[in-house]
Amino acid sequence: MQELDKIWRNGELVDWADATIHVGTHALHYGSGVFEGIRCYETSKGPAVFRLTDHLQRLHDSARLLTMEIPYSVEELRAASFELLSANGLPECYLRPIAFYGYGELGVSAGSNPIETVIMSWPWGAYLGEDGLRNGISAKISSWQRIGPNVIPHAAKATGIYVNSMLAVNEANRAGYDEAILLTADGYVADGSGESIFVVKGGRIFTPSLATSILHGITRDTVIQIAQDIGYPVLETNLIRSDLYLADEVFMTGTAAEVTPLRAVDDVELGVGPVTLELQGAYLDTVRGRSDRWAQWREYPATAPAEA
Ligand code: PMP
Repeated sequence: MQELDKIWRNGELVDWADATIHVGTHALHYGSGVFEGIRCYETSKGPAVFRLTDHLQRLHDSARLLTMEIPYSVEELRAASFELLSANGLPECYLRPIAFYGYGELGVSAGSNPIETVIMSWPWGAYLGEDGLRNGISAKISSWQRIGPNVIPHAAKATGIYVNSMLAVNEANRAGYDEAILLTADGYVADGSGESIFVVKGGRIFTPSLATSILHGITRDTVIQIAQDIGYPVLETNLIRSDLYLADEVFMTGTAAEVTPLRAVDDVELGVGPVTLELQGAYLDTVRGRSDRWAQWREYPATAPAEA
Protein backbone atom coordinates (compact mmCIF):
# COMPACT_ATOMS: atom_id res chain seq x y z
CA MET A 1 0.00 0.00 0.00
CA GLN A 2 1.39 3.39 -0.92
CA GLU A 3 1.34 5.68 2.09
CA LEU A 4 -0.22 9.09 1.61
CA ASP A 5 -0.12 12.19 3.80
CA LYS A 6 -3.30 12.01 5.87
CA ILE A 7 -5.96 9.72 7.29
CA TRP A 8 -9.32 10.99 8.59
CA ARG A 9 -10.00 9.68 12.08
CA ASN A 10 -12.93 10.54 14.36
CA GLY A 11 -13.47 13.99 12.93
CA GLU A 12 -9.93 15.14 12.17
CA LEU A 13 -7.09 14.60 9.74
CA VAL A 14 -4.08 12.88 11.28
CA ASP A 15 -0.70 12.01 9.81
CA TRP A 16 -0.62 8.59 8.16
CA ALA A 17 1.93 7.22 10.67
CA ASP A 18 -0.16 8.37 13.65
CA ALA A 19 -3.36 6.48 12.68
CA THR A 20 -2.62 3.54 14.99
CA ILE A 21 -4.83 1.52 17.36
CA HIS A 22 -4.30 -0.36 20.63
CA VAL A 23 -3.84 -4.17 20.47
CA GLY A 24 -6.81 -4.46 22.85
CA THR A 25 -9.17 -3.07 20.22
CA HIS A 26 -12.40 -5.12 20.15
CA ALA A 27 -12.53 -5.30 16.34
CA LEU A 28 -9.03 -6.77 16.15
CA HIS A 29 -10.10 -9.70 18.33
CA TYR A 30 -13.63 -10.32 17.00
CA GLY A 31 -13.88 -8.73 13.55
CA SER A 32 -16.52 -6.31 14.84
CA GLY A 33 -16.28 -3.66 12.17
CA VAL A 34 -17.96 -2.52 8.97
CA PHE A 35 -16.25 -1.01 5.98
CA GLU A 36 -16.54 0.22 2.42
CA GLY A 37 -14.43 0.25 -0.73
CA ILE A 38 -14.96 3.26 -2.99
CA ARG A 39 -13.12 4.57 -6.02
CA CYS A 40 -12.31 8.13 -6.98
CA TYR A 41 -11.57 8.59 -10.69
CA GLU A 42 -9.87 11.39 -12.56
CA THR A 43 -12.35 13.05 -14.91
CA SER A 44 -12.26 16.17 -17.08
CA LYS A 45 -14.22 17.95 -14.30
CA GLY A 46 -11.79 16.90 -11.56
CA PRO A 47 -11.68 13.89 -9.22
CA ALA A 48 -15.12 12.20 -9.12
CA VAL A 49 -16.08 9.72 -6.42
CA PHE A 50 -18.31 7.02 -7.85
CA ARG A 51 -21.62 6.58 -5.98
CA LEU A 52 -20.07 7.90 -2.76
CA THR A 53 -23.42 8.52 -1.07
CA ASP A 54 -24.65 5.00 -1.90
CA HIS A 55 -21.48 3.50 -0.43
CA LEU A 56 -21.76 5.54 2.76
CA GLN A 57 -25.43 4.62 3.07
CA ARG A 58 -24.42 0.95 2.77
CA LEU A 59 -21.82 1.55 5.52
CA HIS A 60 -24.61 2.82 7.76
CA ASP A 61 -26.85 -0.13 6.81
CA SER A 62 -24.01 -2.56 7.58
CA ALA A 63 -23.59 -0.93 10.99
CA ARG A 64 -27.33 -1.22 11.69
CA LEU A 65 -27.13 -4.96 11.08
CA LEU A 66 -24.38 -5.10 13.73
CA THR A 67 -26.42 -2.79 16.03
CA MET A 68 -23.53 -0.36 15.86
CA GLU A 69 -24.25 3.36 15.78
CA ILE A 70 -21.74 5.24 13.66
CA PRO A 71 -21.32 8.65 15.29
CA TYR A 72 -21.19 10.45 11.91
CA SER A 73 -24.05 10.83 9.44
CA VAL A 74 -23.78 9.92 5.77
CA GLU A 75 -23.53 13.64 4.97
CA GLU A 76 -20.72 14.14 7.52
CA LEU A 77 -18.80 11.15 6.16
CA ARG A 78 -19.29 12.49 2.64
CA ALA A 79 -17.75 15.83 3.65
CA ALA A 80 -14.95 13.98 5.47
CA SER A 81 -14.20 11.94 2.34
CA PHE A 82 -13.79 15.08 0.26
CA GLU A 83 -11.69 16.71 3.00
CA LEU A 84 -9.35 13.71 2.93
CA LEU A 85 -9.18 13.61 -0.87
CA SER A 86 -8.28 17.26 -0.95
CA ALA A 87 -5.61 16.83 1.77
CA ASN A 88 -3.97 13.93 -0.06
CA GLY A 89 -4.26 15.67 -3.41
CA LEU A 90 -4.46 12.65 -5.72
CA PRO A 91 -6.72 12.83 -8.79
CA GLU A 92 -7.40 9.10 -8.56
CA CYS A 93 -7.45 6.73 -5.58
CA TYR A 94 -9.32 4.14 -3.53
CA LEU A 95 -11.23 5.20 -0.39
CA ARG A 96 -11.68 2.89 2.61
CA PRO A 97 -14.08 4.08 5.32
CA ILE A 98 -14.22 1.74 8.33
CA ALA A 99 -16.12 1.90 11.62
CA PHE A 100 -15.32 -0.54 14.41
CA TYR A 101 -15.64 -1.23 18.10
CA GLY A 102 -12.54 0.16 19.74
CA TYR A 103 -10.63 -0.22 22.99
CA GLY A 104 -12.50 -0.85 26.23
CA GLU A 105 -13.76 -4.21 27.44
CA LEU A 106 -12.81 -7.47 25.74
CA GLY A 107 -16.00 -9.43 26.32
CA VAL A 108 -17.47 -10.60 23.04
CA SER A 109 -20.45 -8.28 23.47
CA ALA A 110 -19.08 -4.96 22.37
CA GLY A 111 -20.93 -3.30 25.24
CA SER A 112 -20.05 0.33 25.60
CA ASN A 113 -16.75 0.23 23.74
CA PRO A 114 -16.19 3.40 21.73
CA ILE A 115 -16.86 3.31 18.00
CA GLU A 116 -13.88 4.41 15.94
CA THR A 117 -14.56 5.90 12.51
CA VAL A 118 -11.72 6.15 10.01
CA ILE A 119 -11.34 6.93 6.32
CA MET A 120 -8.15 5.95 4.51
CA SER A 121 -7.24 6.57 0.90
CA TRP A 122 -4.43 5.29 -1.25
CA PRO A 123 -3.72 4.59 -4.93
CA TRP A 124 -5.01 1.17 -6.02
CA GLY A 125 -4.74 0.01 -9.63
CA ALA A 126 -6.78 -2.77 -11.24
CA TYR A 127 -7.56 -5.18 -8.37
CA LEU A 128 -7.32 -8.29 -10.55
CA GLY A 129 -4.60 -6.78 -12.75
CA GLU A 130 -4.61 -4.75 -15.99
CA ASP A 131 -4.09 -7.97 -17.90
CA GLY A 132 -7.09 -9.49 -16.09
CA LEU A 133 -9.30 -6.58 -17.17
CA ARG A 134 -8.34 -7.09 -20.83
CA ASN A 135 -7.76 -10.82 -21.14
CA GLY A 136 -9.78 -12.22 -18.27
CA ILE A 137 -8.86 -14.15 -15.15
CA SER A 138 -9.25 -17.76 -14.04
CA ALA A 139 -11.43 -18.71 -11.09
CA LYS A 140 -11.83 -21.87 -9.07
CA ILE A 141 -14.99 -22.97 -7.34
CA SER A 142 -14.02 -22.97 -3.71
CA SER A 143 -14.31 -25.87 -1.30
CA TRP A 144 -15.23 -23.19 1.28
CA GLN A 145 -18.95 -22.37 1.39
CA ARG A 146 -20.28 -18.82 1.51
CA ILE A 147 -21.45 -17.82 4.99
CA GLY A 148 -25.23 -18.34 5.20
CA PRO A 149 -27.72 -15.56 6.01
CA ASN A 150 -28.34 -17.03 9.47
CA VAL A 151 -24.63 -17.17 10.28
CA ILE A 152 -23.73 -13.51 9.70
CA PRO A 153 -25.99 -11.10 7.78
CA HIS A 154 -24.11 -11.01 4.52
CA ALA A 155 -25.75 -7.77 3.44
CA ALA A 156 -23.46 -6.22 6.04
CA LYS A 157 -19.99 -5.50 4.71
CA ALA A 158 -18.54 -6.62 8.02
CA THR A 159 -14.82 -7.09 8.55
CA GLY A 160 -15.11 -10.53 10.22
CA ILE A 161 -16.90 -12.05 7.20
CA TYR A 162 -13.77 -11.61 5.14
CA VAL A 163 -11.96 -14.53 6.80
CA ASN A 164 -14.33 -16.63 4.67
CA SER A 165 -13.24 -14.75 1.53
CA MET A 166 -9.56 -14.94 2.53
CA LEU A 167 -9.68 -18.72 2.90
CA ALA A 168 -11.34 -19.06 -0.49
CA VAL A 169 -9.01 -16.78 -2.44
CA ASN A 170 -5.91 -18.24 -0.78
CA GLU A 171 -7.04 -21.75 -1.70
CA ALA A 172 -7.67 -20.64 -5.31
CA ASN A 173 -4.30 -18.87 -5.56
CA ARG A 174 -2.43 -21.88 -4.18
CA ALA A 175 -4.08 -24.02 -6.85
CA GLY A 176 -2.89 -21.58 -9.53
CA TYR A 177 -6.15 -19.65 -10.08
CA ASP A 178 -6.58 -15.89 -9.83
CA GLU A 179 -9.84 -15.82 -7.88
CA ALA A 180 -12.36 -18.00 -6.03
CA ILE A 181 -16.08 -18.50 -6.65
CA LEU A 182 -18.07 -19.33 -3.53
CA LEU A 183 -21.23 -21.45 -3.47
CA THR A 184 -23.89 -21.38 -0.77
CA ALA A 185 -24.48 -24.39 1.49
CA ASP A 186 -27.30 -25.34 -0.94
CA GLY A 187 -24.92 -25.34 -3.89
CA TYR A 188 -26.02 -22.09 -5.51
CA VAL A 189 -23.45 -19.73 -6.98
CA ALA A 190 -22.97 -16.78 -4.62
CA ASP A 191 -20.04 -14.53 -5.56
CA GLY A 192 -16.29 -14.09 -5.76
CA SER A 193 -14.14 -13.43 -2.70
CA GLY A 194 -14.63 -9.70 -3.28
CA GLU A 195 -16.85 -9.45 -6.36
CA SER A 196 -20.36 -10.13 -7.61
CA ILE A 197 -20.71 -12.61 -10.48
CA PHE A 198 -22.65 -12.59 -13.77
CA VAL A 199 -23.34 -15.17 -16.51
CA VAL A 200 -24.14 -14.32 -20.15
CA LYS A 201 -26.11 -16.95 -22.06
CA GLY A 202 -28.05 -16.60 -25.30
CA GLY A 203 -28.07 -12.79 -25.17
CA ARG A 204 -29.45 -12.70 -21.63
CA ILE A 205 -27.60 -11.85 -18.43
CA PHE A 206 -28.05 -13.81 -15.19
CA THR A 207 -26.82 -13.01 -11.70
CA PRO A 208 -27.55 -14.50 -8.25
CA SER A 209 -30.42 -12.77 -6.46
CA LEU A 210 -29.83 -10.73 -3.31
CA ALA A 211 -31.28 -13.64 -1.29
CA THR A 212 -28.19 -15.74 -2.16
CA SER A 213 -26.11 -14.60 0.83
CA ILE A 214 -24.43 -11.92 -1.25
CA LEU A 215 -23.44 -8.35 -0.62
CA HIS A 216 -25.74 -5.76 -2.21
CA GLY A 217 -22.99 -4.86 -4.65
CA ILE A 218 -23.03 -1.29 -5.90
CA THR A 219 -21.16 -2.22 -9.08
CA ARG A 220 -23.63 -5.11 -9.49
CA ASP A 221 -26.49 -2.59 -9.34
CA THR A 222 -24.63 -0.22 -11.68
CA VAL A 223 -23.97 -2.93 -14.27
CA ILE A 224 -27.56 -4.23 -14.09
CA GLN A 225 -28.86 -0.74 -14.84
CA ILE A 226 -26.34 -0.15 -17.63
CA ALA A 227 -27.06 -3.56 -19.21
CA GLN A 228 -30.84 -3.04 -19.11
CA ASP A 229 -30.40 0.41 -20.59
CA ILE A 230 -28.40 -1.07 -23.49
CA GLY A 231 -31.23 -3.56 -23.99
CA TYR A 232 -30.06 -6.79 -22.37
CA PRO A 233 -32.59 -8.69 -20.25
CA VAL A 234 -31.10 -9.20 -16.76
CA LEU A 235 -32.45 -11.99 -14.57
CA GLU A 236 -31.68 -12.21 -10.85
CA THR A 237 -32.01 -15.91 -10.18
CA ASN A 238 -30.46 -19.06 -8.71
CA LEU A 239 -27.39 -20.30 -10.58
CA ILE A 240 -25.58 -23.60 -10.13
CA ARG A 241 -22.00 -24.46 -11.02
CA SER A 242 -22.93 -26.06 -14.36
CA ASP A 243 -24.48 -22.73 -15.43
CA LEU A 244 -20.93 -21.35 -15.19
CA TYR A 245 -19.42 -24.21 -17.20
CA LEU A 246 -22.07 -23.86 -19.95
CA ALA A 247 -22.07 -20.05 -20.05
CA ASP A 248 -21.26 -18.03 -23.15
CA GLU A 249 -19.46 -15.57 -20.88
CA VAL A 250 -18.86 -15.08 -17.16
CA PHE A 251 -17.67 -11.87 -15.54
CA MET A 252 -17.24 -10.39 -12.08
CA THR A 253 -17.98 -6.89 -10.84
CA GLY A 254 -16.81 -4.85 -7.89
CA THR A 255 -15.55 -1.41 -6.99
CA ALA A 256 -12.00 -2.75 -6.90
CA ALA A 257 -12.37 -5.31 -9.72
CA GLU A 258 -14.58 -3.04 -11.91
CA VAL A 259 -15.85 -5.38 -14.69
CA THR A 260 -13.42 -8.31 -15.04
CA PRO A 261 -13.99 -11.16 -17.51
CA LEU A 262 -13.56 -14.76 -16.31
CA ARG A 263 -11.74 -16.52 -19.13
CA ALA A 264 -11.87 -19.86 -17.28
CA VAL A 265 -13.87 -21.45 -14.47
CA ASP A 266 -12.17 -24.52 -13.00
CA ASP A 267 -10.82 -26.41 -16.04
CA VAL A 268 -13.45 -25.02 -18.43
CA GLU A 269 -12.08 -22.39 -20.85
CA LEU A 270 -14.70 -19.74 -21.66
CA GLY A 271 -12.61 -16.97 -23.22
CA VAL A 272 -13.54 -13.30 -23.12
CA GLY A 273 -16.81 -12.37 -24.80
CA PRO A 274 -18.28 -9.30 -26.50
CA VAL A 275 -21.08 -8.63 -23.98
CA THR A 276 -18.60 -8.49 -21.11
CA LEU A 277 -16.34 -6.12 -23.04
CA GLU A 278 -19.28 -3.92 -24.02
CA LEU A 279 -20.41 -3.63 -20.39
CA GLN A 280 -16.84 -3.08 -19.20
CA GLY A 281 -16.46 -0.24 -21.70
CA ALA A 282 -19.75 1.34 -20.68
CA TYR A 283 -18.84 1.02 -16.99
CA LEU A 284 -15.40 2.62 -17.43
CA ASP A 285 -16.91 5.43 -19.56
CA THR A 286 -19.41 6.04 -16.74
CA VAL A 287 -16.95 6.13 -13.83
CA ARG A 288 -14.39 8.19 -15.78
CA GLY A 289 -16.95 10.71 -17.00
CA ARG A 290 -16.52 9.91 -20.70
CA SER A 291 -20.28 9.44 -20.97
CA ASP A 292 -22.96 11.61 -19.38
CA ARG A 293 -25.68 8.95 -19.44
CA TRP A 294 -25.24 8.28 -15.69
CA ALA A 295 -23.71 11.60 -14.60
CA GLN A 296 -25.67 11.55 -11.32
CA TRP A 297 -23.44 8.74 -10.02
CA ARG A 298 -20.27 10.86 -10.12
CA GLU A 299 -19.91 12.93 -6.97
CA TYR A 300 -17.68 15.98 -6.70
CA PRO A 301 -16.80 18.19 -3.73
CA ALA A 302 -19.18 21.14 -3.37
CA THR A 303 -16.55 23.51 -4.74
CA ALA A 304 -16.22 21.61 -8.04
CA PRO A 305 -18.60 22.31 -10.92
CA ALA A 306 -21.76 20.26 -10.44
CA GLU A 307 -22.76 17.77 -13.10
CA ALA A 308 -25.82 18.59 -15.15
N1 PMP B 1 -19.11 -9.25 -3.05
C1 PMP B 1 -18.18 -9.20 -2.08
C2 PMP B 1 -18.03 -10.35 -1.16
C3 PMP B 1 -17.36 -8.06 -1.93
O1 PMP B 1 -16.43 -8.00 -0.97
C4 PMP B 1 -17.51 -6.98 -2.83
C5 PMP B 1 -16.63 -5.78 -2.71
N2 PMP B 1 -17.18 -4.82 -1.86
C6 PMP B 1 -18.47 -7.08 -3.83
C7 PMP B 1 -19.26 -8.22 -3.90
C8 PMP B 1 -18.69 -5.97 -4.80
O2 PMP B 1 -19.34 -4.90 -4.18
P1 PMP B 1 -19.27 -3.44 -4.77
O3 PMP B 1 -19.66 -3.54 -6.19
O4 PMP B 1 -20.25 -2.66 -3.97
O5 PMP B 1 -17.87 -2.97 -4.61
